[in-house]
Amino acid sequence: MKDRNIVVIGGGPSGIMAAIRASELGCRVILIEKNAELGKKLLLTGKGRCNLTNNSGLESFIERFSGNGQFLRDAFKVFSNEDLMEFFESRGIKLKTERQQRVFPVSDKAINILDGLRRELTKNRVKIYYNSEVTDIIKDNKVYSIKIIGKKDILCEAVIICTGGVSYAATGSSGKGLKMAEELGHKVVSLRPGLIGLMTKDKYPKLLQGLPLKNIRITFSDGKKKVISEIGELMFTDFGISGPLVLTLSGQVVDWLKKGKKVMAFIDLKPALSNAQIDAKFLREFKISPKKGIKYFLRSMLPQRLIDVFLDLSGIEPDKTVSQVTLQERKKLLVLFKTLPIEISRPRPINMAMITKGGISLKEINPKTMESRLVEGLYLAGEIIDVDADTGGFNLQAAFSTGYLAGESAAK
Ligand SMILES: Cc1cc2nc3c(=O)[nH]c(=O)nc-3n(C[C@H](O)[C@H](O)[C@H](O)COP(=O)(O)OP(=O)(O)OC[C@H]3O[C@@H](n4cnc5c(N)ncnc54)[C@H](O)[C@@H]3O)c2cc1C
Repeated sequence: MKDRNIVVIGGGPSGIMAAIRASELGCRVILIEKNAELGKKLLLTGKGRCNLTNNSGLESFIERFSGNGQFLRDAFKVFSNEDLMEFFESRGIKLKTERQQRVFPVSDKAINILDGLRRELTKNRVKIYYNSEVTDIIKDNKVYSIKIIGKKDILCEAVIICTGGVSYAATGSSGKGLKMAEELGHKVVSLRPGLIGLMTKDKYPKLLQGLPLKNIRITFSDGKKKVISEIGELMFTDFGISGPLVLTLSGQVVDWLKKGKKVMAFIDLKPALSNAQIDAKFLREFKISPKKGIKYFLRSMLPQRLIDVFLDLSGIEPDKTVSQVTLQERKKLLVLFKTLPIEISRPRPINMAMITKGGISLKEINPKTMESRLVEGLYLAGEIIDVDADTGGFNLQAAFSTGYLAGESAAK
């Protein structure tokens, strides 16, 4: 519907895309952003390189969302990863696909993506209010009144809330939008950190700070029967463990911890070798060089910094030669190679999370339009809604696709 007045709250990827689409369709659009600039979080994405989407098919795409991916099917159909790539390419921003189908700008600069979006806002005459924090949304009959600190109220026929989650609050996503949606009657599914590093009870991960372990398998257990396990790269940090593998599996671990379960991680340092193969390697080496110090022998199998930790955990005297290592001690070493244990204490604080799990309940949003099922003329898009995905460009695509769909629906 031409000439409709639409307000979009939040100038992140979802809000920008919603504003672009609604204005393309002929509406008068005001985009309100509390910061002095748009897309502060977008500039941090992909370590400043912006992994804007993933070049995989719809089904595998949906699978990468933690449980709620089906809700996004319509949004992805209306504005897919291919549409997003075409959006940038056709505006002169070249993209490339890296390992695991992750898509980045060829320039490796997130600012180029933001610049492309800003140009489109200008082209479509979207009015942008900077330094403008929305505090209330009041609906009177069919008219919305948007309250902004220190500014005059804005009246409009449709509102799209795109204020993000609650992590990295310094970028602007403070949770105010969630409160405003709650005041309008919406439920917020409990907010938890997603894609987050894990703090450990054991001290040794902190001693290994900065050490990456590639191609290892990590298995998390909830202390009972449930386990999750994957191969990839882990990083020891000053607080415990992180890295792509830990971030990917952290969602499930956070939920277990929240339920008060005792969560253990077990690292298999040699996933390609069976216990018997590792033991055979030990025995062979023990036979060939019995006088070799155990410390030197372990060098062929472990990163230097892990050796002291291994000797400490197995209780083997560091000065022993391999011939002095007892059968019991050899067995202990074997266990450490295949199941190096780490007890997880808690996730890092939610503000440090790459994504907020939880958000506006999907039951209250129409997936075909992103309109609230409770309040006519109110739309919700981006991280504020209860969807979250693995790393790989899925979260940004969800923000762009839901923003696009909300903008299109609000305009119609
Ligand atoms: C360090 C980091 C790296 C990431 N890397 C990637 C990646 O490479 N690929 C990927 O897919 N995802 C990545 N993500 C996730 C991705 O950045 C988010 O999913 C995405 O930014 C969500 O977009 P959004 O528009 O919903 O919210 P946001 O980007 O959070 O934008 C919300 C906007 O709303 C504004 N706002 C909030 N409240 C108000 C208010 N009351 N009034 C006015 N304005 C308001 C905020 O200032 C902000 O500008 C990363 C996240 C982090 C933290």
